[in-house]
Amino acid sequence: MKNDEYDIAIVGGGLVGAAIGWGIASSRPRVAILDEGDVALRASRGNFALVWVQGKGAGNPRYGMWTLRSAETWEAFAESLQRQTGIDVHYRQPGGFHLALSHAELDRRVAHLSQIQAQPGMPTIHHEVLDQAALANLLPQVGPEVAGGTYSKHDGHCNSLRLLRALHAGFQLHGGTYRADHRVESIVHAQGEFRLSTNHGEVRAGSIVLAAGLDNARLAPMVGMSVPVHPVRGQLIATEKTGRFLDYPVSTVRQTEEGTVLIGDSQEDAGFDTRSTSDVLAAMADRAQRMFPRLARLNVVRSWAALRVMPRDGSAIYEASAGCPGAFAAATHSGVTLAPNHALVLAPHIARGERTADAFQAFSARRFDVPQAA
Ligand SMILES: Cc1cc2nc3c(=O)[nH]c(=O)nc-3n(C[C@H](O)[C@H](O)[C@H](O)COP(=O)(O)OP(=O)(O)OC[C@H]3O[C@@H](n4cnc5c(N)ncnc54)[C@H](O)[C@@H]3O)c2cc1C
Repeated sequence: MKNDEYDIAIVGGGLVGAAIGWGIASSRPRVAILDEGDVALRASRGNFALVWVQGKGAGNPRYGMWTLRSAETWEAFAESLQRQTGIDVHYRQPGGFHLALSHAELDRRVAHLSQIQAQPGMPTIHHEVLDQAALANLLPQVGPEVAGGTYSKHDGHCNSLRLLRALHAGFQLHGGTYRADHRVESIVHAQGEFRLSTNHGEVRAGSIVLAAGLDNARLAPMVGMSVPVHPVRGQLIATEKTGRFLDYPVSTVRQTEEGTVLIGDSQEDAGFDTRSTSDVLAAMADRAQRMFPRLARLNVVRSWAALRVMPRDGSAIYEASAGCPGAFAAATHSGVTLAPNHALVLAPHIARGERTADAFQAFSARRFDVPQAA
């Protein structure tokens, strides 16, 4: 085989492509990740790093089950990455909170979680509703404006930049090839193989996995698939480091292992615009300091915006091409939470070349083909 021929080529080296690559490379020898340069849109370098279960699964109980399963595997997954690469991804699972700044907000939150739980086929996802006094016991720094909140023992967080680095290091230790600055422009399927045109010439592969984030929407039709994803902008704020005061992640505020407080993250329809805006940052900062008044004394050191890779129904898309056997695609807006599933469940399935399996039917983009009821 030549240097530009692989058994499996993965297009995209973000959290999704790297996790799948890590899983595949442990059993298949010639696997490459082709990754665009730093100009690319990269959700994996701009996210909030929650490993989050509460609130997942609305409209798709299988997604709730899939998310819960991943969270349950996270600890062992982080340990195996550390054993292999020496990189600690700072995974902690003390449980997580969602805080409400009024009783009306709390009522809406509780109704939302109850509706999710009531869906047929939904696994039991632990959550507790806490009033202000109960919250103050667990989060002593919480401010007087917080009316209450919900807590789930399943939730946690990590350092997602370390996670990305560990997956890349592990992938290469498994023998995988990482090719940076390899934007895939087009893909042709002919005579049982895939030919990928990149800015460094043609790469050939027996199978391909599209894990190019938002660019999956453009690439998928070239190999007989549809991956309808769109950008949803999120903005984040990082403060200076401060003494530890927050032992639990909150859905919009968390303290990293190093002491930085991260405040996130908005949900905006802004197309492909990755600029941050002072009005949204100010609103986020205002809510965060009403939750934890001590944040008002901290300096902001950085803020940024990144684009979520959002499937139309907010779930995930895992697809295998019927017309071009050997082509797969994966896209999700929870690439941190689902990393163990991608590495340990989805990757072996792809490595075996299985086109369809019951486990992934619920995540096929064909679910969007069902006509809407009048
Ligand atoms: C603000 C924000 C907060 C978030 N918070 C969380 C959270 O708390 N928990 C959680 O689980 N998830 C969170 N996410 C989602 C998570 O970050 C994404 O699900 C995940 O990063 C998606 O990874 P990806 O690899 O699919 O896409 P990306 O990270 O966008 O990576 C795509 C990769 O493909 C490459 N690429 C693109 N096009 C091509 C091409 N044509 N050829 C070759 N390479 C290409 C790019 O260079 C890039 O490396 C958040 C996202 C955002 C934006």
